[in-house]
Amino acid sequence: MIKRKLVLLCSTLLIFFMMAACTNQEETSTSPTDGGEEKVQVVTTYSIVYDIVKNVGGDLVDIHSLAPIGSNPHEYDPLPKDVQKTTDADAVFYNGLNLEAGNSWFDRLMETAGKDGQDAPVFLMSNGVEPMYLTTEGNEGEEDPHAWLDIQNGIKYAENARDGLIKVDPDNEDVYRKNTDEYIAKLKELHQNAIEQFNEIAEEERVLVTSEGAFKYFSSAYGFQAEYIWEINQENQGTPDQITRIVDIINVKEIKGLFLETSIDPRSMETVSAETDVPIMGKVFTDSLGAPREDGDTYIKMMEWNIAQIKAGLSQ
Ligand SMILES: [Zn+2]
Repeated sequence: MIKRKLVLLCSTLLIFFMMAACTNQEETSTSPTDGGEEKVQVVTTYSIVYDIVKNVGGDLVDIHSLAPIGSNPHEYDPLPKDVQKTTDADAVFYNGLNLEAGNSWFDRLMETAGKDGQDAPVFLMSNGVEPMYLTTEGNEGEEDPHAWLDIQNGIKYAENARDGLIKVDPDNEDVYRKNTDEYIAKLKELHQNAIEQFNEIAEEERVLVTSEGAFKYFSSAYGFQAEYIWEINQENQGTPDQITRIVDIINVKEIKGLFLETSIDPRSMETVSAETDVPIMGKVFTDSLGAPREDGDTYIKMMEWNIAQIKAGLSQ
């Protein structure tokens, strides 16, 4: 009798331990948020793509972003840790439309990191965007990268981030879809708000002068004319010819306010301001978010900031 009870106790204990072991195993394999290694390892090329992918991936992704906040993503020199992170990444997200094409840094990095094959998990955020093109001599016909400044394109970026993450992590498809739906709802509201705010600026005042001509997509979406010192960030920025050209335009169009990008050397725009007596009305975010916990530190906040600055600067 005692022996039988002992056997029963043993087998009960055994079942208990087996169940405990199973539960444990199940927990670690289905809950990637518990351990860092379980998260999807993502690399993004610059801060705006970083933020959009973060909103879609939430806690399921661990993201390393390449071109630092405040820097120019057109040209970048990847560091050894960037190469390592890209080699190990489950997915890479980039803007495309020529953004990462300056000094071919992105193509070279993909090659070094073994991410340039046909099946490489490299995802184009601007997939589905109708490209706009550069017009200055020497660059004619090249795609303009700044699609994200039209919030409707930001929505496409979010959808592409969702589709990429579902491809590399299909088990969490539902989470990615839910995150994306919530995020897109906010972006739609922001786009609507931008239209309403800008409608309050008289049409003839809606001329936006910046250092780089980053506002093509923005201007087409929100009814502005975009003027600039140079059309795209590359070697020749702020040459005397470029300054003379924009000074003439400002005088002819009787422009009342200029804007300065946070990720661009201010000296050229300061020269233009001094030569025309037209003030710099504010800073705008174009190629980079603001630093964490400062103005414009998410895509939504940078767009809200730009809308408010442009509205205030041009409604005088
Ligand atoms: Zn740019």
